[in-house]
Amino acid sequence: MTATTKHGIHHVTAIAGPARRNLDFYTRVLGLRLVKKTVNFDDPGTYHFYFGDEAGSPGTILTFFPWEHAAPGRLGIGETQETVFRVPEGAMGYWTHRFVEKGVAYDALVRRFGEAVLSFRDPDGTRLALVGVPGIESEPAWTGEVPAEFAIRGFHSVNLLLKEAAPTGAILTDVLGFSEVGREGSLVRFKAGDTAIGGIVDIHEAGAFLPGRMGAGSVHHIAFRAADDAEELAMARKLAENHGLQTTEQRDRNYFRSVYFREPGHVLFEIATDIPGFAIDEPVASLGQSLKLPPVYESRRREIEQVLPEVA
Ligand code: ZN
Repeated sequence: MTATTKHGIHHVTAIAGPARRNLDFYTRVLGLRLVKKTVNFDDPGTYHFYFGDEAGSPGTILTFFPWEHAAPGRLGIGETQETVFRVPEGAMGYWTHRFVEKGVAYDALVRRFGEAVLSFRDPDGTRLALVGVPGIESEPAWTGEVPAEFAIRGFHSVNLLLKEAAPTGAILTDVLGFSEVGREGSLVRFKAGDTAIGGIVDIHEAGAFLPGRMGAGSVHHIAFRAADDAEELAMARKLAENHGLQTTEQRDRNYFRSVYFREPGHVLFEIATDIPGFAIDEPVASLGQSLKLPPVYESRRREIEQVLPEVA
């Protein structure tokens, strides 16, 4: 690993209900950019939406598999509890007002590790939050629907609901580039070096608790960053040698290349390369505007387009 390697969250992938409602919420209410409209490579009759910043930078990407008739999930142990975005410190009032105006379910503001946290849910019940971060007003922002002074600047963190923190913490620190940086109540915070965007994982140590059930509103997996294939391979080796955990074979996801493994706390983790990124099959200026298919499905485009629900 070189000194310039950035670690942290690459993307978060969740399960949604109806595609159009999902698209509306993330682009129109939260003001994220739709950076890629493609299909689930393992189930090409289903969309795969990627939302993020202008370029779909690692650490900003929330993706969804929307199923029109997905049954709701139930949060439990061994799952991601909350996905948290960064906004400028002074934006909390704006967002509270916006949630009232748009009918978004939200909770009273709380403080965690000294920061203001505004938790809310998307229409499928996906648990999300905004954290007010000082000094980020001048960071670039995608200003589709939300003015720059209030707009989301990528992920702050993910919060994992686990029986115990130590086994998962060992993977975060030994393999994925994190260090433990603090504890507060039942939370243990891990941080990836100086990565500002997507650099935090909080583990909520909950002890014995019901297991979750995947469905609409559940996070399917969390992907962590590797600079390139060589670093990804080195991380996979370390998982096997130091922790006895096997990853899948590397899968080509067109915009990054990935391996997957089930971490000891039961959350599905992925390691994804920063390269090649979302501009590989369309220019940054028009990201997300047309349906992109991996080469293997291009010959079936007409058939796939007919199966996918109308979202425009
Ligand atoms: Zn993924």
